[in-house]
Amino acid sequence: MTDENVALLPAVPARGDTSAQRHCLCCKAVFPSEGFGERICKRCKSQAAWKSAISSGHGASRRRSAR
Ligand SMILES: [Zn+2]
Repeated sequence: MTDENVALLPAVPARGDTSAQRHCLCCKAVFPSEGFGERICKRCKSQAAWKSAISSGHGASRRRSAR
């Protein structure tokens, strides 16, 4: 038995997936983000204007500029 392959690399924590101060993608304000996925400040989230912008245009209602 050889213990040559026991080079245990230190577990690298997922970078960026930590709570930190981030810039809101919506209003560019710095806010305490809880994780990497949180890019919108609470204030903009509550407004939910960005949500409707995403949900629209990707579903049953296609905009075809019909006249
Ligand atoms: Zn914002």
